[in-house]
Amino acid sequence: MKTVFEGTLTPADNRRVIPCQFDIPEGTTRIHAQFDYSPIHTEGQPFPQQISFAIHDPNGVRGEWSRPMADGWHVALNSATPGTLPGGLPAGTWTIFLLSHRVMPPVPVSYRLTVEWSNDPIAEGAPHYAAGQTPDRGPGWYRGDLHGHTIHSDGSWDIPEFVAFMRGHGLDFVTLSDHNTISGLAQHRSLAEEGFVAIGGTELSTFLGHALALGIHEYFDWRIGTERELTMPELAQLVLDKGRLFIIAHPMAPGDPECCGCHWEHLDMMPGNAPAVEIWNGWWADYNEQGVQLYYQWLNEGHRLVATSGTDIHECPPVDAHGRAASNVVYAETFSEDGIIAALKQGHSYISAGPELLLTATSASGAQSMMGDSLPDEGATLTARWKHAHDGDVLRLIVNGAVHEMRNAGETGEASWTLDAGQARWATVELRDAKGDMWAITNPIFFGAGRERQ
Ligand SMILES: [Zn+2]
Ligand SMILES: [Zn+2]
Repeated sequence: MKTVFEGTLTPADNRRVIPCQFDIPEGTTRIHAQFDYSPIHTEGQPFPQQISFAIHDPNGVRGEWSRPMADGWHVALNSATPGTLPGGLPAGTWTIFLLSHRVMPPVPVSYRLTVEWSNDPIAEGAPHYAAGQTPDRGPGWYRGDLHGHTIHSDGSWDIPEFVAFMRGHGLDFVTLSDHNTISGLAQHRSLAEEGFVAIGGTELSTFLGHALALGIHEYFDWRIGTERELTMPELAQLVLDKGRLFIIAHPMAPGDPECCGCHWEHLDMMPGNAPAVEIWNGWWADYNEQGVQLYYQWLNEGHRLVATSGTDIHECPPVDAHGRAASNVVYAETFSEDGIIAALKQGHSYISAGPELLLTATSASGAQSMMGDSLPDEGATLTARWKHAHDGDVLRLIVNGAVHEMRNAGETGEASWTLDAGQARWATVELRDAKGDMWAITNPIFFGAGRERQ
């Protein structure tokens, strides 16, 4: 059986969700979809059209296909194109949503979506991945990445290659965060073992901004402003209510048409109920500096946000590639997915492209805190300690978003400052090179009562 959906797309359709519905009978064993469109790349335009596909079965989200495939995509009892999960194909109404990210002017793009299904006998037997186990090493500092993609969305390497690369860089934990899909999480988790925690996640990629939902193992329907009328704060709340971590991703990244949805434009969430923001995405770049400044602005508005980083890696970088990517160095009570997510929620972490950088504080009455914590507003002594910095690096104490003091860091050092009661609502330290590019930045210590982070 087969059905065909045809139409045209123009730039006026950008950021639209176009449902294509079809009914499959009991006993269906395989569904195949093929999308043909023209022109693929409009002459004279810098970017090709970008269209992806969300797949829903009668019970809800089944996945998303975000890489063009010459032979189309399929979902069957025993296999599926990465991005979707194999398994039972319930009878009833299925929907493939065309997601129009980027249609370049001036000529309309004509498309044809062909969906075919069959009941040819197929042996059951989708690959089963047994969860790997990571023995707990107890409280300690652990280094990891929170943002990466594979063939399950628009990356070009598979999960074992992705994990091997990360582990080759000495990381203790890695989150898989493919766009709007969880289809890779079981395989990712199967690679957990002694010394390595595999954390579940997805990048909720909307037309108006991307956000990481971490520690998750279930689907969240991201379609904002469609017939579900879900807002981004409501979607975030669904994630938070399950105890997961929600992070606004790369808020100042370039947006349309270069990267549809990559610039944060959810004006009802600036930052709203988001507890965390990714201030260092990929290699250090101008948009990250702008992300840090936006983060400071939000802190000054009273939001006690956690800062994170993510490589947002999609493939093995070429050998001649160069740039400064950072990881999250987290003080976790347990070396486990739950322990690392809990520590990140508390902001017990710093972001670094190499150096160690710690910030602690003791209040006038003797209360002690580490990064991410709050102290009473009664005056405090702040102490920064760093190692493995570089000649010429500069340490900056930031108080309420302004540079309070700069000093030459040297390779190793320690510095203390005394702040009076009422002088600081928050303070953080940065380690930068002589040009001003970031090496490391801590989560802030907060002073006085403030809004509770979720
Ligand atoms: Zn993104
Ligand atoms: Zn990403």
